[in-house]
Formats: sequence, C-alpha cells, structure tokens
Amino acid sequence: MLIQETEVNLFEECKKCMPGGVNSPVRAFNAVGGEPFITERADGAILTSTQGKKYIDFVGAWGPAIMGHNHPTIKAAILEALDKGTGFGTPNSYELLLAKKIIELVPSIEKIRMVNSGTEATMSAIRLARGYTRRDKIIKFSGCYHGHSDGLLVKAGSGALTFGHPDSAGVPYSFASETIILPFNDIEEIEKTFIQLPDQIAAIILEPYPANCGLILPLPGYLKKLKELCTKYGTVLIFDEVMTGFRIGLGGVQEKENITPDLTTFAKIIGGGLPVAAFGGKEEIMKYLAPEGPVYQAGTLSGNPIGMAAGLAALKLLEQELPYQNLNKMGIIIKEAILQGAKEKGIPIQVPQVGSMFSFFFSEKPVLNYNDVLETKSNHFKCVFKYALEKGLFLPPSAFETCFISTAHKGEIIERSAEILYKAIKSVA
Ligand code: PMP
Repeated sequence: MLIQETEVNLFEECKKCMPGGVNSPVRAFNAVGGEPFITERADGAILTSTQGKKYIDFVGAWGPAIMGHNHPTIKAAILEALDKGTGFGTPNSYELLLAKKIIELVPSIEKIRMVNSGTEATMSAIRLARGYTRRDKIIKFSGCYHGHSDGLLVKAGSGALTFGHPDSAGVPYSFASETIILPFNDIEEIEKTFIQLPDQIAAIILEPYPANCGLILPLPGYLKKLKELCTKYGTVLIFDEVMTGFRIGLGGVQEKENITPDLTTFAKIIGGGLPVAAFGGKEEIMKYLAPEGPVYQAGTLSGNPIGMAAGLAALKLLEQELPYQNLNKMGIIIKEAILQGAKEKGIPIQVPQVGSMFSFFFSEKPVLNYNDVLETKSNHFKCVFKYALEKGLFLPPSAFETCFISTAHKGEIIERSAEILYKAIKSVA
C-alpha cells in the first residue's frame, strides 16, 4: 500500500491538497452523499479500496476499461514499450501503428491526429471545422458533454450537470455565444436554425448516443437527417465517439447506424487506460491541420509511445475477441434485472441499454433529451447507489452518467451484479 490508512482518513487528506479532494469532479460523491473510497488497485471487474474492500466496478475508469482493468496483454504491451523509453519528441512507430489500426477499423477516418484527452480532441476538431469552413458558430445539444473547453461548457452534461453548473463560471459570454444549444432528438429545431443561419454554422458536434446525462438513444432516422442537413448546408458533422468509439462495436455508433461523419473524436478505449485521445476524418478536412494547413494544434506528449502501445494492444484485443455480442448479453441481463425490480416495486423506470452501456431513469416516459432527464427522480438514484455500494457494487456517483460493463464481468460477476441491482431498485424508499 502506498499510504497507510490506519490513522488518517485519506479522503480528508485529499481534500486538504486538492479542490474537493479530487482531480476530476465526477469522482466526488456530492450528488449521492458520503465520501468516495480510494482505490488501491483494479483488476478485471473489481476495484480494491485502500481499506481492502472489493467493489464490482460499473464505472470502468469512466470508459476505457472495456476489457477489464489491468489486462495482462495491455500491461505487457506497456512494459515492452516502456523498455524503449518514455517519450521521444520525434515521430515513432507506435503512433503509426495505432493510426493505421484506427483508420482500418473506422471507415470514416482517412487521417487522424493523436492528442491526450477527449477535451483536446473535441476542442481541436471544432477549431479545424471552423478553419475549414471559415465560419464561427457551432451547434451543440443540451446535455451532451464534450469536455471542458470554453465553448463547449454550455448546457453540458456529466459533472457539469451533476454539480449544477451546466454553464461554467469563467467562460466569457462572447466565447459561449458562438455555441448554439439545441435539444437532442428534435430535427425541426435544427432545420429552423439552418434556415435562419444557412451559411454560418461551422459544425454540429454531438455524442451520437448521448451518454453524459444518463444514456439517451436517437430516434429512428434522426442521425441520418442530421447528416443530410450538414451536407446540404456545408456544415462539418462531428461525431464525438469518446465514449462510444470501440465500445458500441469496432466502428462505433457510425458503423452501427451506417452514417459517415466528417470528423470523429476518440479517447478512453483508444488509450487502453492511458491518457490518449484523437480526432480524425476526411482527408480533405484533416489537411487543414498544421503543419500541412493553417489550423494550429500541437502537443508535447501527443503520440506518446507508451500510450500508443497500450491503445494498440486494446484495439487488437477487441479485434481478436470481438466481445460485443457477449457484452450486449450482459447488458440485457442487467437491464432485465433492473426492470424486474422496478416492476415488483411498482415504480416507473426506463432502462436505456445498448451493448455494454446502460443507465436507468425513474420516469414514466422514454427519456429523449436533457429536459426529460431533468424531470426524472434523481433522489431514487441515490438510494440505489447507496444500496449497491454497501453490497459491493460501484455505480457512477451521479444519476446523470452511464454505466459500463467489461468483458471481465462475465459469469458469476454479472449474475451477482444483476441480483444486487434488482434488490437495490427494490430498496428505493
Ligand atoms: N466527450 C465525451 C463524449 C466524453 O464523455 C468526455 C469525457 N467523459 C469527453 C469528451 C472529455 O474527455 P476527457 O475527460 O478525456 O477530456
């Protein structure tokens, strides 16, 4: 153990050193009450706290851990790369291999640029779309989260929503005013906006399956229509597949829904657990990036060989094992357990689930957008969260996040999880 916990409360110590005790707000338990446990190690589907308590993990490091934590193949790839040095500041073979792999697996990607976080990926993709179109405005959907860059922290989901700051302090009005916010799943609103501003919108950015205010699925035909409108008005369509890339399938939502966005952002799974992200897409647009073109973007650690090696190992594992059907089966087991618990308890619930992603809303009607999410009963979520944690199952500490299943949840672990969640829903006061 790195720090002994016998005499001090470690989280109290964390709070003395870091705002809120955390390095990312979503890790705090403010929305559910209590204090987060501190993780000593993570293996497969299990987190072990510094107090030696074990939790079945449905947070999955907020997305990357699709093959379970500390996977031996990814670990071996990291160690092999580590042996050659921690970073070179020159092009390296690992970045080439990861770029080639993503281009091979995701048909819309003709060229790609590696960065270090999802925030950087979306921020840079938007700058690129603006440079390419020579337009300033972008459309974003309320409740979608695309990281914490200024123009995207407007009606944002995830921690921004959990902590009641969907519009962050510190973002100048003039920056945010270039971001047009529309409701998801409402094509008329998009059409109206394009009619008003036919030649001003550089990009539409969206999570094609929004997963940062719980999980919301697009209505049939919605994504196709967005693509058609973007093509008609010369607007760059950016799919933010930071969550969904390589999780919904090797080709992400775009492959599942058969839609070709102009640009795509990735993070999480493509780093195999290390800080790696990327944006890529049509060569015609990507060639506007420096040093080929006039849109500047850079990064000292971008393409870091250890991160690239980890990401490459993760993608190769997914390609070899194609776990998506099995992950979906596990998703259905969880969904059914939650539905059964709610039915027996007599409380209305919605359980959106796609493959290894799921969430649950205490609501009578399907949840189609951010306003629907705000109407749900997040107090019930608190009860479920607490019950589950007590029984050794860790859900994201917010009603507005999505749960992730990994391949390591198989067998007894998924059965046990289903039982805990069934009972947790029945425990709602
Ligand atoms: N886009 C989406 C869809 C995300 O879910 C997130 C983070 N959860 C981001 C962007 C930002 O990524 P990061 O936290 O790596 O900056």
